Amino acid sequence: MSSKVVLASNNAGKLQEFQQLLAGRDLNILPQAEFNVPEVEESGLSFVENAIIKARHASSIAKLPAIADDSGLEVDFLDGAPGIYSARFAGANADDSKNNQKLLELLHGVPSEQRRARFQCVLVYLRHPLDPTPLICQGTWEGRILTAPRGSNGFGYDPLFLEPTSGLASAELSKAEKNTRSHRAKALQCLLAQLSH
Ligand code: IMP
Repeated sequence: MSSKVVLASNNAGKLQEFQQLLAGRDLNILPQAEFNVPEVEESGLSFVENAIIKARHASSIAKLPAIADDSGLEVDFLDGAPGIYSARFAGANADDSKNNQKLLELLHGVPSEQRRARFQCVLVYLRHPLDPTPLICQGTWEGRILTAPRGSNGFGYDPLFLEPTSGLASAELSKAEKNTRSHRAKALQCLLAQLSH
């Protein structure tokens, strides 16, 4: 029988990626919405702090082990912004399109070699809410910010994130292609390896 784990996220894009990445695994990932877990304030100052906050909150309400993903985009020209504020870059009620628009405005006229950026993903696994030794994994995906959106797959900043090796925007990659190289895929690989020990 597969073991149940609550996923501490309401982000539809992330949920879809997790379900695809974990297909066929002995892990039954249930979205926190199934347990009516409300959003929790992400009051940490780093991805890892926020991931722990979200995992602990979901685990205590769902009464299950929890996985949380805290992720975002770091842009060198913006000194690492939007970073942990990626989801709310354009304000508290921002959506993906407003966030992307703000990013393009801030990088207007910046030459290609100064548009280096990376996606970061920190995954935290808590066996129970008071687990004193969370499993923590991090994945990074290097790229560059485009001058206009490309592609319609994915979510968030995917239409503006150029993967230099393929020359494609993340939103131009198929789901399967993104899942072989993304920050989330790398972090999850690391977590699955730790869970199997
Ligand atoms: P979180 O839910 O607080 O971790 O916010 C993550 C935010 O980072 C998302 O809302 C997106 O804006 C951005 N992000 C994280 N991962 C990705 C990705 O794989 N593609 C595009 N944007 C992402």
